[in-house]
Order: sequence, then structure tokens, then C-alpha cells
Amino acid sequence: MRKLAAGNWKMNGMAAALSEARGVSIAHPNPSVDVLLCPPATLLTRAADALANSAIALGAQDCHAAGNGAHTGDLAASMLAEAGASAVIVGHSERRADHGEGDELIRAKGEAAIAAGMVAIVCIGETLAEREAGSTLHVVRSQLAGSLPLGATPQNTVIAYEPVWAIGTGKVATPEQIAEVHADLRAALTDMMDGADAVRLLYGGSVKAANAAEIFAIPHVDGALVGGASLKAEDFSPIVSALEEA
Ligand code: PEP
Repeated sequence: MRKLAAGNWKMNGMAAALSEARGVSIAHPNPSVDVLLCPPATLLTRAADALANSAIALGAQDCHAAGNGAHTGDLAASMLAEAGASAVIVGHSERRADHGEGDELIRAKGEAAIAAGMVAIVCIGETLAEREAGSTLHVVRSQLAGSLPLGATPQNTVIAYEPVWAIGTGKVATPEQIAEVHADLRAALTDMMDGADAVRLLYGGSVKAANAAEIFAIPHVDGALVGGASLKAEDFSPIVSALEEA
């Protein structure tokens, strides 16, 4: 399978940040892995122009579950696709926490992304309290079962395992913790869909240049979803390179 390095800019990035996206494209004109940047929706069309004829794909950070309608402030998957996105992150833990999103809604959003011809990047992950209670595998299996889009295939769906306590905190899960969850997710997916071996399982949570190679050497880690370290080309590029070398 082709691995994936995905950058999530979150609510960061004015027009000047497009130079960072261009920097990634210049550093990786012909990468051996898929490279995806997810800027805020306000930058998608300009990012699409900035990255035209490059190997860097664009994604969005969320979409509405409906195709259109009376949903003030929301964006339909088809709108994001028209703006240049080929993928959408759904169920990021910040949306689960900030907007109370649950598995059923996340599944519907993923299905909307797929219906619009995009890849759904479905995020799951336990909180610190859940890990300390020993319920990590139960929590991520239940999130996977509840939020995997109907009609998921290895081509249209990516799963990102992101322990909530490791996002933006500088705390990285240990290789043993990541290995345990990724192996379990692969097994769970195998019971849920055809072609589970080819579904990309990303790790996310304080991935940076210094720890990327160690993380990418873990079985069933097929790439990363990167937050903070995706904002600057000089930080994200070595992560892409580490994935190419893994
Ligand atoms: C994320 O936003 O998905 C993420 C993993 O953030 P960070 O890399 O900053 O921990």
C-alpha cells in the first residue's frame, strides 16, 4: 500500500502560510508516499492554485453530513471537493470535544465525504482517563465500529489512531502502546470489511522529525496525521522523508 503523510493545520494559517505548502511541494516533487495538507477551508482554493501541478494533495478538516441545505456556517463535502480537497478529516478529537460529535454523526460525515468522491480520514482515540482505566482497546474498537463509514474501502477510507492525551501535548505514545492499538485495529477491521489489510492506519499525536522514524517502523503504522509539525515545511518535510525511508 502507498503510505500517507497528512498534515492538519487546524485553525491556523493565513494566506502567507501558503508558502509553507509550496515549500513542501518543492521539497517533495515526486514522493514515494502520498502527501496531504489540510489547511483551513478558507485557504483551500488558494492552496489548490499554489499546489497545482505538484504532488501534494489537499484535504479539509471537517464536513457536514448533509449534501446541502439550511446549515448556517457549515460546509458540504461537495463544496470542499470543488474547492480542491480530495480528502476530509472526520471525527478529530477536537471536534468530538469542542462540538460534541459522536460516532454516528462522524460515520455520516465520512459517508458524505465518500459520496462526494473524497477519502474519509476517520479519527479515533482514547482519553487519558480511558487509558488509565485500561479501556483503550475497548474504546477505539467501539469508535471504529461506530464511525466506520458504510461502504468503506481501502481506497476511500483511512483510519487515524490519535490518543487524545498525545495530541498537541508533546507526549507521544510509546512504540509498544502504538503497536498494540494498531495491531488490534487491523484485526478489528478484518472482521468488519473486505480488504482490511490495505486500509491505511495512521498514527497521530505529537509526531515530529525526531520521533517519526521510530513510529514509522512500528507494524501496521502506515503513515501519520500531523498537527503542529505540519505548519512549517521545514518541520513537515523530514517527516515525509522518514515515511519514504520506512
Ligand atoms: C492532530 O491534530 O491530529 C495532531 C496529531 O496534532 P499534533 O501533531 O500537534 O499532536
